Amino acid sequence: MTDCIFCKIVAGEIPSKKAAETINVLAFYDIDPSAETHVLVIPKKHIETFLDLKKEHSNILSQMLRLTQQLIKSEKIDRKYKLVINGGEYQFVPHLHWHLLGGEVKKQV
Ligand code: 5GP
Ligand code: ZN
Repeated sequence: MTDCIFCKIVAGEIPSKKAAETINVLAFYDIDPSAETHVLVIPKKHIETFLDLKKEHSNILSQMLRLTQQLIKSEKIDRKYKLVINGGEYQFVPHLHWHLLGGEVKKQV
């Protein structure tokens, strides 16, 4: 999608600090971290919200889950982490993502 910040990050048109990736999924560090560790996990394909996930996205979703498990280990946050999905008025960027927060949380996402 042309006007989407996260699609531009996927395309390399906006710089980001990559944490990990698979064929269909990208994980990168949040520009304004809300916790000691704050990674965003997104599908490379533009899917707008959590409610737009369909059965056909099961492969993407399972890659997002698996990559998140690997990040919890590689970021060494397995003793203190949480996952957050914002929706509706809480969601600012209209490209599906979840927040992986680790260590001390400084503010709400
Ligand atoms: P939302 O409220 O939509 O769930 O959260 C969007 C998140 O994206 C926020 O935590 C915000 O800091 C992050 N964000 C917005 N624009 C950029 C950007 O250009 N680069 C990075 N790395 N993170 C961004
Ligand atoms: Zn997008």
